[in-house]
Amino acid sequence: MDAPATNPETHIEMADERLRPLLKAGAVLERLWTGSTWGEGPVYLPDGRVVWSDIPGNRLLVWQEGHEVQEYLKPSHFQNGHVLDHQGRIVGCSHGERAIVRQEQDGLWTVLVGEYRGRRLNSPNDVVVARDGSIWFTDPPYGLIQPQEGYGGTQEQPGQEVYRFDPETGDLRAVVRGMVCPNGLAFSPDEAVLYVGDTAGTHSGETHWPERHHHILAYDVLDGEVVDGEAAHARVFAEVSPGFPDGFRVDVHGNLWTSSGSGVQVFAPDGTRLGEIAVPEAIGNLTFGGPDGTTLFIAASTSLYRFEVNVRGVTA
Ligand code: MG
Repeated sequence: MDAPATNPETHIEMADERLRPLLKAGAVLERLWTGSTWGEGPVYLPDGRVVWSDIPGNRLLVWQEGHEVQEYLKPSHFQNGHVLDHQGRIVGCSHGERAIVRQEQDGLWTVLVGEYRGRRLNSPNDVVVARDGSIWFTDPPYGLIQPQEGYGGTQEQPGQEVYRFDPETGDLRAVVRGMVCPNGLAFSPDEAVLYVGDTAGTHSGETHWPERHHHILAYDVLDGEVVDGEAAHARVFAEVSPGFPDGFRVDVHGNLWTSSGSGVQVFAPDGTRLGEIAVPEAIGNLTFGGPDGTTLFIAASTSLYRFEVNVRGVTA
């Protein structure tokens, strides 16, 4: 399955000098592999593997240095975003099963939660695990409205919410309500802020959404609770353009590294856009990884990319 992977030209836009110390001088954008239809949801495993989604291909892929890229799971039931929990298990968002799933130590996948108040979820998109082990995820309807990204079906939830799931008790709560299309999400390093991307602009005009959102909202979190989870009261943290905040991660200093249509855009904790690492394909999602946590792995349309930086990601 390996395809020729020629490295593109590396281009950094330094919009603010605060970006410079976050980067490694001379770092090169590497294209590790090409051959997916739409890559998303990369997760770095401690043994050096990167597992990510090719959603329209209905499969997960796995990359490891010196090894050929292989299929990790097929059919994947159109899994999208991934994260590791505190036991090192992969937690995933399954469009097809309309559920949050987890790969257990024996390798088998189990459904953790798929219903809220007696109705099926829409199609969980992206996921993060908080320090207390709770699983936070977004639930837009992409897996229902895009035939190539799910099994279709009717939306049963009255909205597109952000949920907090407690895998110990089974408790599921909607913590952010009223967003049009919640997508990527991440916590600040101290978990005092929850960032959630709204990507309604991907389908405005095609659906009932008049909104053209391509922004990241910020919510205050106190003692594991979103203080005011009404979207109408959220702060707009950043507008992402071109493209969408489909997926993003936060580094240990609180800077946010997001997908966009043109590259990895970096925003300071105060919302200032610091600049961009250009990527020649639209990005689905990215993650920090590598032995010391300072490698960006970027799932972008047909390819998996790698870029070394000078800061670690928050492990979440
Ligand atoms: Mg996403």
